[in-house]
Amino acid sequence: MTKMTTDNSGDVRLCGISKTYGSFTAVHPLDLTVPQGSFFALLGASGCGKTTTLRMIAGLEEPTTGTVLLGDQEVTHLPPYKRPVNTVFQSYALFPHLDVFENVAFGLRRRGIKSVRKQVEEMLELVQLGEQARKKPHQLSGGQQQRVAVARALINHPKVLLLDEPLGALDLKLRRQMQLELKRIQTEVGITFVHVTHDQEEAMTMADTVAVMNAGRVEQLGSPTDLYENPRTTFVANFLGTSNLIEAEIDSAAGGDIVLKAGGGKLVLPRARCSAPATTGGKVLVGVRPEKISLTHADEAGGIPEGRNRITGRIVDSSFIGVSTQYVVDSPVCPRFEVYAQNIDRDPRLVPGAEVVLHWNPAHTFGLDAAQD
Ligand code: ATP
Repeated sequence: MTKMTTDNSGDVRLCGISKTYGSFTAVHPLDLTVPQGSFFALLGASGCGKTTTLRMIAGLEEPTTGTVLLGDQEVTHLPPYKRPVNTVFQSYALFPHLDVFENVAFGLRRRGIKSVRKQVEEMLELVQLGEQARKKPHQLSGGQQQRVAVARALINHPKVLLLDEPLGALDLKLRRQMQLELKRIQTEVGITFVHVTHDQEEAMTMADTVAVMNAGRVEQLGSPTDLYENPRTTFVANFLGTSNLIEAEIDSAAGGDIVLKAGGGKLVLPRARCSAPATTGGKVLVGVRPEKISLTHADEAGGIPEGRNRITGRIVDSSFIGVSTQYVVDSPVCPRFEVYAQNIDRDPRLVPGAEVVLHWNPAHTFGLDAAQD
């Protein structure tokens, strides 16, 4: 299938949109641009305002303030059916009495289009359901039903496809398959997808840009890698995985590296990775992802190369999880430090009770403002 658009008509621009219900603000004034052709995820916990934001793009909810633009067209007050968007819901909302072919053909027939076969077959091929055309929805798996819903939405050639927790009803294995499937479909059709999810792994797998929402605001926007490696708030650091936060005080901030005091020791933090004000004596929360950390038995600490950040601790728990082992380490600077160690040359002395040194390349350290929350 050829790409549906090559212009900017699939840009989504939200300018100061907000939504209040009585005295409750579900979405605070929000500015956001989703470029044409991107796979964009709104990620956040239940109640953070992501669905309300999506519904304002769809036209299912009127913003209290602000404007919504699709391409160069202002659509703020247009009803849903006049907007060049389609929405796929978690519930699929297929017509149970119609077969797959007729479900997908529905939008075309409603517009009075007579010869639908070619377009429907093309869509069914896109979602790999060509063989299932004459089945009724109840004869399909959850993943297949969801693909029918996607085909039914895409056949109207929307500029933007909105997906509201579309995989929420599927079991984990199917959800993972469908994540890759949706990503493939989006790449193939080339239109803008805006996807709402509370599942960080799902957002990271599928989206090229993720907006992390918290209490009605976008807390941080970026690529999955950027958000994971350079979180700027404790909320984002903790929402996207384990962050092992250590309270530290700035000892010196003269050069490209910030030197911090934590417990009795020193840690180095690249200035570019610190979102807190870098003033001597200031407090910083220092984080490092579990898979960046190495674990060495205290008796072997002399072999740890110079220049690595290090803290000491005692293993309190370990669990074998196949490719790696997860250790929980109690340290004076962080009570439940999590470490994932690859099972290569694993030291048999690394068992609960063992005294260890945790060490990592300072480049993997990030710094957050301890006063922000
Ligand atoms: P979920 O994943 O649970 O759907 P969400 O992040 O999508 O959560 P929203 O559905 O956008 O959250 O809701 C944001 C907040 O606005 C919630 O506290 C919700 O209770 C509230 N809210 C949503 N719709 C209404 C409404 N029609 N009237 C009053 N409050 C509402």
